[in-house]
Amino acid sequence: MPSKELPGRSDIVIIGGGIVGVTLAHELAKRGEEVTVIEKRFIGSGSTFRCGTGIRQQFNDEANVQVMKRSVELWKKYSEEYSFSFEQTGYLFLLYDDDEVEEFKQNIAIQNRFGVPTRLITPEEAKEIVPLLDISEVIAASWNPTDGKADPFYATAAFALNAEHFGAKLVEYTEVKDFIVENGEIKGLKTSRGTIKTGTVINATNAWAKLINAMAGISVKIPIEPYKHQAVITQPIKKGAIRPMVISFKYGHAYLTQTAHGGVVGGVGYELGPTYDLNPTYEFLREVSYYFTKIIPALRELLILRTWAGYYAKTPDSNPAIGKIEELSDYYIAAGFSGHGFMMAPAVAEMVADLVTKGRTSLPVEWYDPYRFERGELRGEALQMG
Ligand SMILES: Cc1cc2nc3c(=O)[nH]c(=O)nc-3n(C[C@H](O)[C@H](O)[C@H](O)COP(=O)(O)OP(=O)(O)OC[C@H]3O[C@@H](n4cnc5c(N)ncnc54)[C@H](O)[C@@H]3O)c2cc1C
Repeated sequence: MPSKELPGRSDIVIIGGGIVGVTLAHELAKRGEEVTVIEKRFIGSGSTFRCGTGIRQQFNDEANVQVMKRSVELWKKYSEEYSFSFEQTGYLFLLYDDDEVEEFKQNIAIQNRFGVPTRLITPEEAKEIVPLLDISEVIAASWNPTDGKADPFYATAAFALNAEHFGAKLVEYTEVKDFIVENGEIKGLKTSRGTIKTGTVINATNAWAKLINAMAGISVKIPIEPYKHQAVITQPIKKGAIRPMVISFKYGHAYLTQTAHGGVVGGVGYELGPTYDLNPTYEFLREVSYYFTKIIPALRELLILRTWAGYYAKTPDSNPAIGKIEELSDYYIAAGFSGHGFMMAPAVAEMVADLVTKGRTSLPVEWYDPYRFERGELRGEALQMG
């Protein structure tokens, strides 16, 4: 996509062209709003193109379950409309002791209450779904066949192209450097390629969100820090061998699945930071090899082709900060996705577009209240994996 000229003005400016920025631009443009995305590198170049593809509704609280249920509806709708790959191949959490089973039973009850059809299955049933699994220590599994995975490259490109089709402008290789504010009102943004006039700004920069908040001069504390998480891809194996996302908290908080090309992709909980460094490490390579082969011993035979790193933009309760910042009109934030922002993006786009255009939304956005940190009202830790 060629980088476009920066328009002189735009009603709404979204800073950040990751999956959250582009799905939001798409939603706003579709509603007839004039919107520009400003991205300092290229669309998807932040965490989005480094992510693990997973989309799940198996969360442990009402808000995230509801939001993810809506998100999956939107993934389904748009993948069909725009012909990109979203496969409902399920998420399979392997459970190894009674405490884990008890915790997942409670999660399943919440999920079922909102119509997410997760159920507890036996190790033998889990092995039917993924025959390569070692189930010798597994005592049960949490299985939801309607969870899935999407290709971040095709999905992001599809939302970006269709956002443009509805009139959104996506400006690449342009970095936001400062806000122009008069009497508590946003008048524009200074960028590396000139100034853009606007009254409404949405911070969708995830790992960089605190830098943008500082530029905006807001005083409310929204603690979002970048952590290095790494991923691995192996040589391809027979297609269909590992259809769902397989999770094992016992073995390193590992998640793994197979890509459309046949390679095994995934990662573990191993985390470094806060840091903006993105060099993969030998320790990760060793850990991921150890844990993956505990879950699927046959992976021992496979060659690892590549490892890479990206950011989890983490908050203290692993839930994002989504909402309007009242001290500056009109400034919104949708950042701090703590490792599950790809899956949430379509529903987040709907919530934020609702807030910007109507001032309210029927989705439970209060859960992600950006002021909760300052108020000391942390949420229950969102189920984070990897
Ligand atoms: C290894 C790994 C595995 C993951 N697996 C999953 C998964 O399975 N499922 C899932 O849902 N999530 C997963 N995630 C998390 C997911 O990648 C992120 O939550 C998601 O991509 C966040 O999207 P975003 O649009 O908010 O941020 P980003 O994609 O990071 O986009 C933010 C953009 O802002 C731009 N920017 C920053 N500063 C400026 C500025 N001053 N001016 C202009 N532009 C600026 C950046 O260049 C960047 O492109 C994973 C992450 C990693 C690292």
